[in-house]
Amino acid sequence: MNENVYDTIIVGSGPAGLTAAIYNVRANLKTLVLGGDEPGGQLTLTTHVENYPGFAKGIGGLKLMMDMQEQTRNLGVEIRNGYVSRISKKQTNNFQIILDNNEILESKAIIVATGAKAKWLGLPKEKELIGKGVSSCATCDGAFFRDKVVVVVGGGDVAGEDAWFLSKFASKVYIIHRRDKFRMQVAVAKKIENNPKIEVVWNSEVININFKLPASPAGRQTSNTKLENILVKNNQTGEEKIMSIDGLFVAIGHDPATSFVKKNVNLKEGGQIIVGKDLEFPTMSSVPGIFAAGDCVDDVYRQAIVAAGDGCKAAMDAERWLETIKN
Ligand code: NAP
Repeated sequence: MNENVYDTIIVGSGPAGLTAAIYNVRANLKTLVLGGDEPGGQLTLTTHVENYPGFAKGIGGLKLMMDMQEQTRNLGVEIRNGYVSRISKKQTNNFQIILDNNEILESKAIIVATGAKAKWLGLPKEKELIGKGVSSCATCDGAFFRDKVVVVVGGGDVAGEDAWFLSKFASKVYIIHRRDKFRMQVAVAKKIENNPKIEVVWNSEVININFKLPASPAGRQTSNTKLENILVKNNQTGEEKIMSIDGLFVAIGHDPATSFVKKNVNLKEGGQIIVGKDLEFPTMSSVPGIFAAGDCVDDVYRQAIVAAGDGCKAAMDAERWLETIKN
């Protein structure tokens, strides 16, 4: 037996990945979790989590993930940083997991639990202004906007919760939503409605971001470059207006982080990994031995608790599948 071969390598360390690891290690499998480039996943960027059972008063997203990680480690799982660039199959039928630093790891099964990444509006300068007034993480950056005017773009749960969180710091929070109806849960929408600091700008889109250049001889961007205003268009009337703001929080959803497996397994049009074709192993992808769980699969529920449940299923499927390949 090759001591360096893992039974399962779990790619991703959000609720799906860590739950899978807890189940696999308790089944006596040699288990490694690779944290990915956002260790802990999306919950670490969430403020207060009220809908994860077991916490009478709710729990901070980061705290929940730190505790989950500690629980996983305490059970004997190895968790390390590492970003997978591709996966290939060896003649032994084991998988090779190639990291971006060219390190190669080997396992008999893989559970992909890489979650999803924030989407951006695609406007010129948007990404260059990240950290200079533009953000996709209210939890991370909200406190920089004390007594400032901020905008949240989007109409989903994240936009709602971000707006509510930002209202603790900012003097004014606008939500700019492209339709006249929210997608967010009613409970979140109610919190917003009742918050006097939050105002919704319906049927509207941000069409340009303008920034202030400090006086510099070359007229180039420097670290003092700063968001100044945005151009907003009402998509019903065509009216355009400039809004002077200090912060722009983009909360328009996420893309599944699956590009590293696109050559291996079948994906949906939106990039989610297709599972469930093999009724015996409902979390298995199109490649035997590669399982998937959480937001990298789910384009319907996308809840932490669902991801954790799916991680459990993937671990149990992987365990049963590993039994079938034993000589
Ligand atoms: P989401 O539910 O997909 O909502 C994205 C929002 O952004 C939608 O309102 C959408 O508008 C808007 N949008 C998308 N592309 C846009 C664009 N290019 N320009 C302007 N607006 C755009 O995404 P999310 O809010 O990030 O939430 C992701 C998932 O996590 C959801 O399933 C959500 O329920 C879940 N979540 C749950 C909790 C919780 O349970 N506590 C907390 C946070 C998130 P349209 O409405 O017009 O499509």
